[in-house]
Amino acid sequence: MKKIWLGSSWKMNKTQSDVVRYCEFIKPYLSAVDVELQTFLVPPFPYVKQVGSSLAETGCLTGVQNVGFESAGPFTGEISVGMAKDIGATLVEIGHSERREWFGETDATVNKKVKLSLLEGLKPLICVGDTIDEKRWGVTAESISRQVKIALHTVSADLVSQVIIAYEPVWAIGERGLPATTEEAEHGLSAVRLALIELYGKTIAEKVPLLYGGSVNIHNAKMLLRQQNIDGLFVGRTAWHPEGLLRLIRLASEVIEEQAYA
Ligand code: PEP
Repeated sequence: MKKIWLGSSWKMNKTQSDVVRYCEFIKPYLSAVDVELQTFLVPPFPYVKQVGSSLAETGCLTGVQNVGFESAGPFTGEISVGMAKDIGATLVEIGHSERREWFGETDATVNKKVKLSLLEGLKPLICVGDTIDEKRWGVTAESISRQVKIALHTVSADLVSQVIIAYEPVWAIGERGLPATTEEAEHGLSAVRLALIELYGKTIAEKVPLLYGGSVNIHNAKMLLRQQNIDGLFVGRTAWHPEGLLRLIRLASEVIEEQAYA
């Protein structure tokens, strides 16, 4: 039976009082989730510590949305991996398409950030995805494979089991995004799995949790979770309200129950 991952990045949203309300609402439900369901939240930096301590006993992991590509130095405005660890993060989101599009993130900086995170004992949550042009040109699998292989360049087989990879088609994300069909999501994640097999072999490749992200909602969540190469969901808008996250938790729990009786 596969463990299911379910988490949300809040991007640049919420105020202190929103965070208090969100955590108070969701805490009892997070505490009661099935052991096979691993939840996580990725708030903006200023709220990471608050979310982490508020949900400390629930098993929900907390992450940051980005880190610097060096461990310290003259990098005004950046936050280091060590600082992320100091504020209680256990996950580091790396390479989200918004970082790639607006803030100069490249495959090479993703690779540096992945290695720094692993050195500090944090879990990199690497985001990869094809653009709409790559999809039209029929090179989705090639684009994904390239991003995965560069992100993991010189990452040892011992450490790669600490990594999580999210396939987030650029064309599926956000307000103007078109949700991927379950087939498209599975196709993208099978390309991720294949790249991992090529790098590390089948046994190790199967230990890396693969998530789908991009316009996940309460209507497509269960079908996505039933796919062979989808181990979880990385969600934006649908989980920005705690009621939305709760509905997704219930749907994921139903899939876990189905698996148990399969
Ligand atoms: C995202 O941007 O990573 C994301 C998954 O957003 P949404 O669910 O809102 O499309």
